[in-house]
Amino acid sequence: MSQIYSPSNPSTLNLETAARTSSSLTGDGKSVDSNGSSSSKTDGTDASGKAAPWTIEDSEDLYRIKGWGEPYFAINENGNITVSPQGDRGGSLDLHKLVEGLKQRDFQLPLLIRFSDILEDRLERINACFAKAIARYSYEGTYQGVFPTKCNQQRHIIEDLVRFGRSYQFGLEAGTKPELMIALASLNTPGALIICNGYKDASYIETAMLGQRLGQKTIIVLEQLEEVDMAIAAAKRLGIQPVLGVRAKLAAKGSGRWGESAGDRAKFGLSIPELIIVVERLQAADMLPCLELLHFHIGSQVSAISVIKDALKEACRIYVELAKLGAPMGYLDVGGGLGVDYDGSKTSSQGSKNYSIQNYANDVVAEVRDACMASETPMPTLVSESGRAIASHQSVLIFDILGTSEASYSQPDPYQEGEHKLIRELWDLYTLVNAENYQEAFNDAVQFKQEAASLFNFSYLSLSERARVERIYWACCVKIANLLRQQDYVPEELEHLEKSLASIYYMNMSLFQSALDSWAIDQLFPILPIHRLNEEPTQRATLADLTCDSDGKIARFIGKKGEKDVLELHPLKSGKSYYLGMFLVGAYQETLGNLHNLFGNTNTIHIQLASKATAHQGYTIEHVVRGNTTDEVLQQVQYNPEDMIEQIRRRSEQALQKGQITIEEARKLMANYKAGMDCYTYLADS
Ligand SMILES: *Cc1c(COP(=O)(O)O)cnc(C)c1O
Repeated sequence: MSQIYSPSNPSTLNLETAARTSSSLTGDGKSVDSNGSSSSKTDGTDASGKAAPWTIEDSEDLYRIKGWGEPYFAINENGNITVSPQGDRGGSLDLHKLVEGLKQRDFQLPLLIRFSDILEDRLERINACFAKAIARYSYEGTYQGVFPTKCNQQRHIIEDLVRFGRSYQFGLEAGTKPELMIALASLNTPGALIICNGYKDASYIETAMLGQRLGQKTIIVLEQLEEVDMAIAAAKRLGIQPVLGVRAKLAAKGSGRWGESAGDRAKFGLSIPELIIVVERLQAADMLPCLELLHFHIGSQVSAISVIKDALKEACRIYVELAKLGAPMGYLDVGGGLGVDYDGSKTSSQGSKNYSIQNYANDVVAEVRDACMASETPMPTLVSESGRAIASHQSVLIFDILGTSEASYSQPDPYQEGEHKLIRELWDLYTLVNAENYQEAFNDAVQFKQEAASLFNFSYLSLSERARVERIYWACCVKIANLLRQQDYVPEELEHLEKSLASIYYMNMSLFQSALDSWAIDQLFPILPIHRLNEEPTQRATLADLTCDSDGKIARFIGKKGEKDVLELHPLKSGKSYYLGMFLVGAYQETLGNLHNLFGNTNTIHIQLASKATAHQGYTIEHVVRGNTTDEVLQQVQYNPEDMIEQIRRRSEQALQKGQITIEEARKLMANYKAGMDCYTYLADS
């Protein structure tokens, strides 16, 4: 269905079909197709009317929605994305309608929309999977997860997690002092854990110990040898018997991007000799009874279940040995790393994972059970610190397309008697390109183009002759790209052809603010239009953001069969907004985001699915967090907006004196300048 036309015999491809395909490819809506009429090319049929019309199933396939979106995202019969926040348990809303409704309330794009019901569903899923595994393996212990605050510290999210997690005694993990402050203030669930990781100083350790007095089980995880002495000293000083844990540096290697989080040279954790030293020092201070937890973390987004199993094996052995050395133990914390299937491929590739949450829970439970049974050690309470797997799905970033830059590959005029020999040869090549010879034809076309450039440099070719050559060259490329799309195999030298022909769609958003990992570590997030999915997307595009940074672009996308260089999109309709959604952005992106080019925080809207009784519009807006205005971001870089306004006033007064500006112009300038201070930093939808 992705092919634009389907000639019954490609070698009979004639100029007319080529013209049609090229207009389909560039699709500026104004190009003229073979019938000479303005081409609308929305129905996906070819000149002979053979291809079936485009369906939402085609879109599902093209953007692989089922792979990464189930059970939360799908397409409805109107061609709009639907959100089913409670997963498969009923209730859904039309994302396009929601966005239109939010715009009517004057919420400007880009909008970060959060679905608290999705967050709740994720939390329930992970707890249900562990409960099932515990029952299945008759595990003699419980599961008590914690949310790693660093994954998303926004207050509304932490408050939701505490509320949703109450019945599971779900707790929080802190990696820094500010995060500990959040955990202490937010968590009020009896019996839930606060796990204190990260580098610590005396005040971090004291605060954590005193926090215990608030009735929360606060566990200080020792990551460095110095922390043992600090903890012993603080316990003596305060007269508090703390609960301590140790983070082990495993020999079992992580894999993928964060693989270095484990292994002998890892940044965090205690080596095996250091673990022994900790036990000895605690014993000497009469504090070995405080040691209750073993922690390890092998990195984020672990794609292969085998890596998790290897780490678990080693950690379980360390756990039972620590118990043998006389520590009471009781908790095994398996850290984070539970992956998210961003590309929907269900493989061990970096953007995916080859296991489900249930597989993960089963492996954790079974592995620990076996190790404990073999050594007759009581089975510990299992703790996990899954961040990404809980927080990613809840947030969708919606932005509009401001415009496109379409390489316009119009149909070149035929060769005319008397034109340069090079033009004739290239024209002949163009007319003869077919499915058998396109690879060779491409190489020849490139050669002709290079030759034209050098003839031009030596004054043997005029500017308009060179333009003729290049126009025919691009027409060849379009023809070859169309042929290529029907092949299973793309020759190496043609891999980038599609990309070189792609349009650029300009996004009203900043990657640096809203999806830093897309820039920083090339992370793929699913991106697709949230409407018109019942229309064939005839354009092929790369995306560029609002920043003046040439890195602010996206040129890798999730494809049907893997990654691809261009994204299929629809031609813009004049006067109509075109909205794209970037999905699975709920983990890490918000606090990583920065003010590059002074694009501030986006508007954030928390949506809850309405109960049936109030279901008039299907949702309620729970919270609105307004994005930054210009004066706010200016203050962050130490400007004083009032002084700036005053500066401009003074400067225009001087200009008035000199007769450089009229009063009317000065008034307008002041009005614009002042109003600009109070504006959203992104572009307004016209
Ligand atoms: C980052 C981090 C996590 C969260 O990892 P995810 O891959 O998001 O689950 C958990 N524990 C520790 C110690 C971390 O540093």
